[in-house]
Amino acid sequence: MARFIFVTGGVASSLGKGMAASCLGALLQAQGYKVRNRKLDPYLNVDPGIISPYQHGEVYVTDDGAETDLDLGHYERFTGVSLQKTDTTTSGKIYADVIAKEKRGFYKGGTIQIIPNITDATKEFMTSNITDEDFVICEIGGTVGDIESQSFIEAARQLENELEIKPMFIHLTLIPFIASASELKTKPTQHSVRDLLSMGIQADILLCRSEKVISEDEKKKIALFCNVKEENVIQNLDTSFIYELPLQLHKAGLDIQVLKFFGLKYKENPDLSKWERASERFYNPKHEINLAVVGKYVSMLETYKSLSEAIMHAALANEAKVHIKWVDSEKISKEGAEKYLGDVDAVIVPSGFGKRGTEGKREAITYAREHKLPVLAIGLGMQMALVDIAKNVLGIADADSTEVNSVTPNPIVSLLKDLVKKEIIFCELKDDKIRLGARDIGIEKDSILYSAYGKDTISERHRHRYSFNPAYKSKFIEAGIVFSAYSEDGEILEAIELPKEKHPFFVGVLYQPEFKSRVFEPHPLLVSLIKSAIKK
Ligand code: GLN
Repeated sequence: MARFIFVTGGVASSLGKGMAASCLGALLQAQGYKVRNRKLDPYLNVDPGIISPYQHGEVYVTDDGAETDLDLGHYERFTGVSLQKTDTTTSGKIYADVIAKEKRGFYKGGTIQIIPNITDATKEFMTSNITDEDFVICEIGGTVGDIESQSFIEAARQLENELEIKPMFIHLTLIPFIASASELKTKPTQHSVRDLLSMGIQADILLCRSEKVISEDEKKKIALFCNVKEENVIQNLDTSFIYELPLQLHKAGLDIQVLKFFGLKYKENPDLSKWERASERFYNPKHEINLAVVGKYVSMLETYKSLSEAIMHAALANEAKVHIKWVDSEKISKEGAEKYLGDVDAVIVPSGFGKRGTEGKREAITYAREHKLPVLAIGLGMQMALVDIAKNVLGIADADSTEVNSVTPNPIVSLLKDLVKKEIIFCELKDDKIRLGARDIGIEKDSILYSAYGKDTISERHRHRYSFNPAYKSKFIEAGIVFSAYSEDGEILEAIELPKEKHPFFVGVLYQPEFKSRVFEPHPLLVSLIKSAIKK
């Protein structure tokens, strides 16, 4: 029977609840247990897929095509467990479902209230779709005291009485260091624990985020004032390498205290050697490279969270330190690519939506192609690679993507729904438009992709509405461009390359490789890109 662990946050947002929940998942796995992480986001938006990246960072996509909060990416990267639509929700979604049910007459005319209707729906989300997991770790987004997340906290409180095995509550708080007094301050934590208690929940473990080591005396004080056992006041120190955090939290006792709480068996010294090796590699790199990421959201780096993590995983696999240079694509279109890409060893042009910034992305690709700079173009990046080739290699001066210019006479890239007529594809499109989630892809032998993956069928995650217009296929093939991968049914072009003799690494992919990269399963394409940059 699954045991439930609720992770809440106090004092401030952005303390890393998602990271802590991910690390706990990884540590419980190392202790031999099966885990599933879940996220409840307090905001009222029903569709995280359409929230501005400037406000929420990236939209993470799961295998089954859910567009989710970026914390799901952390969970997957740390635990390797592929999550599903049923592992993520928002207040808005829960309200929308309840209201839809009411319209269908489900409540037989009864009054609909937050308690019990919203809380029942929340409990159902928390406890459904579980198979043989030993632990379900539910992260409750936001900060205790936020009005939006109150119904989630109330649902968790109710579960305490209803579940056969009493759930555990972990509260992540901040212990700020006040430089002028040279002291760590525990008062904000006391207040947030009290806020939680006022909603009927006594925290079992306090994960205390701080920049300085919390002394035993301070831990005693926190334990006393917050009514937790002293050994359950656990330090969560800042770290410069996030994959070191499981080691730190184990050392601080997190996994063992959790297992003791549930009366389960634990190992004093679980095998964490893979995490140790990752840290060793991070701190002792053999190579160093500079890699430019040319995008339009570079003022909000959370937008590229999975990508920067995937670069880190591939760097570790290559025993390299990769310095990422974030380049605003609009600066390239104003000031030229040489200024920004002249000193880098590789370029990534990531996914994106809309016209703004596309010119600079295309110019970055032209520059990388002409200067034989290893380049990986993803999603909208691949569109720009196709347009670059059409304009500058095939000589179709007015070639464009209809995402950039809807009336271009030469639509090299068009809306998928206008190109692909097969009904089966339409069924997979959200709103008849966007192709989401993992799809099988066939790879041509004798391609960069094939050498990278070492196999001819792969599965990758997608989030796109546009694709290559096959009317132009013969022109590209005549010019020697390699079409190296297609969707399983052969309808949609998934990857293009320049032949190895012409360029060391020029690859465009329609899918988003970063979503599948894990710290211990780095993405083959990114590993190859970095390898090629080191070689250069
Ligand atoms: N905006 C493009 C599309 O919808 C590309 C999306 C992406 O980069 N994944 O097809």
